[in-house]
This record gives sequence, C-alpha cells and structure tokens, in this order.
Amino acid sequence: TRYFAVTALVLATATGCGATDETAVSQPDRGTIGIAMPTTESVRWVGDGESIVRQFQLLGYKTDLRYAEDDIDKQVDQISDMIENGDKALVIGAIDGTALKSVLARAADAEIPVISYDRLIRDTPNITYYATFDNFKVGVLQAGAIVKALKLTGTKDSYNIELFAGSADDNNATFFFNGAMSVLQPYLRSGRLRVASGETAFAKVATQRWDGAVAKKRMQRLLAGPLQGERVDAVLAPNDGLSRSILEAFEEDGYGRAGRKLPVITGQDAELESAKLIAAGKQTQTVYKDTRELAKVAVQMTNSLLLGGVPEVNDEKQYDNGVKVVPTFLLQPVNVDRSNYQRVLVQGGYYTAGQLAG
Ligand code: BGC
Repeated sequence: TRYFAVTALVLATATGCGATDETAVSQPDRGTIGIAMPTTESVRWVGDGESIVRQFQLLGYKTDLRYAEDDIDKQVDQISDMIENGDKALVIGAIDGTALKSVLARAADAEIPVISYDRLIRDTPNITYYATFDNFKVGVLQAGAIVKALKLTGTKDSYNIELFAGSADDNNATFFFNGAMSVLQPYLRSGRLRVASGETAFAKVATQRWDGAVAKKRMQRLLAGPLQGERVDAVLAPNDGLSRSILEAFEEDGYGRAGRKLPVITGQDAELESAKLIAAGKQTQTVYKDTRELAKVAVQMTNSLLLGGVPEVNDEKQYDNGVKVVPTFLLQPVNVDRSNYQRVLVQGGYYTAGQLAG
C-alpha cells in the first residue's frame, strides 16, 4: 500500500491535479513539516500559514506551524525546535533574512531541506529553493499606479511625492523599492516629480519591521516639518498596512477635508481593510498576490524534494542571497485599483461582496 499511495501521489502531483482528501486519508505517516512564519500582525501571513498547512495535510503530512511575532530570536528558537523534533523539511518566511545562518547550518547537518518562503533568506548556502512573487514587478506596479493616477504621461504638471519602503532586513523591501524607482526615476530626474522632504535614499525611507506606527510617525514628522505649506500629491507606500497608517497621518493633518485632497497612495497584499478603502476612493491601489497559490508552490517544491524529485522553477538569475543564486519559482502579482477590484477580488473569489461591504 505504501508504494501505491506514493505512486498515486506522484501521479497526482505530476498531472497537477493535486491529491484528493481520500488519498490523504489512506496515506502512511509522511512526517512533520516545520512552517516558520514571521508574524500574525500582517493578516496576509495568517492566510499563508493556513493555506500551507491545508496543502501539506492534503498530501498526508503533519505540520508544525509557528509564528514568531517579529521577534528574531524567537524565530531562531522555533526553527531549532523543529530541527530537534526531526521535522522532514522546513518552510520559512524569515523575519530578518540575514539572521538564520547558524540555525540553518544545523538543518543542513540534519539533512533537512529548507524552502525560503516569500522572503529570501540571505548569507547561507543552506536553502534549497525559493518560492515568491515577482517582487521587482510589485514595485513597478505600485509606481505605475502613481504615474497613471497623476496622469504623468498625458500632462506636463509637476507633483510632490513622498517615498516609503519596507523593512531593510527584508530582502523583498529592496526589490519593491528598486522596482518602483525604476519607473519613478525619469520623472524625478526631469522634475515632474519632486520629493519635498529630500528623503529619497532607501535607508532613509525604510520602515523597520514593516511597523505601521513607525511609518505614521515619520509621515507626521515630515508633515509637521519640511512639508509644512507643501501639498503632497502622492505617496509610494510599500504595503497596505503602511498605507493605512500613512493615510491616518494625512487625515489627522486635515487632508481629505475642505478641498485638501488625500494623496494618491499605493499598497500591497489586497488586505480587506485596504480593499474597502479602495472602494471608498481613499487608497488608490494595492497589489494582489494570491497567497493560496504561493502556498501551493512551496508545498509542491517541498513534496517533490522529499520524494527525490526536482522542483519546477522559472527564475535562476535574480535571487542571489550573497552566497549563491537560489533557484526560484516566481508568481505574478496583479495590480488592483478602483476600476478592477470587483472583478479581481470579488469575482475572483478572494472576498465576498458582503465582506467588502461590512
Ligand atoms: C511581503 C509583503 C508583506 C510584507 C510585510 C513582505 O516580505 O512580501 O507581502 O506586506 O512583507 O509583512
């Protein structure tokens, strides 16, 4: 039966149709997979965790899902535990991409394969594969939304923009920012866009731990100081959580009332609260990344490795982690704004109309 179950599984995987619940029930114990996620603070990671667990269970694995609430030492401890418990493989969404080197050396000694999930784990040879979205493209979509909303291609007007980036220890944050800047640079050079605060360097505009309170404080500081008397027309915000916090600072400053239009502002993750703000015309844009699909890719990669196969990848160039170029499967992010959120998010089955209205 063991041989049969595994064969059925391989066939199901190879034909892309996935294993059914019945297959899972008849399978022998395939061991436990450790899943280390960064935080429950951003709702997306909660969805990621649930999807990854469900996908592994369908294939007959047990799972040990842990969240470290953005505490780096805690994440290292959780991963240590998983190694000690003899988990068969690890799927890791890192907090600090550079902090896992020694714990992953131990995983390698124990021959436990490691999949880097969404965020690239850096400075270690001991990750096998990487599953993520096209992170550079995320930034391109965000900046493209600013160009479109300000009609930068159609008119000659100039606008003020402020820039925000994600956490500097998250490899993705650089990719998002560089993608966005690849689109914004020509406008900044020609003067069509101007950063009135003068804060443009990644290190200056990064937001430690993707913390909304940090971004809000920075925006408040700018509004009370260098931006006094200026109108801010647009904000590059790297994700929905930060977008909402930055919007609060604007609203508290009187934007959104008495003819003071809220700035055009971007986001990422298509979080429910932000989808509502897009419907209400307050947040301009978000980037939808179907994390259910990312979970599937990571689980297929892991399963394939554990069965002695070679996981499918579609990028073997972009993601150098400082030690090696990590073979990667990239999924495509989708631009969402007021014109298509109904179609993409509601008709696409991510949210119900009731959730958006609630
Ligand atoms: C993820 C984003 C997320 C951010 C903060 C990034 O690494 O790719 O989807 O918004 O972390 O959690």
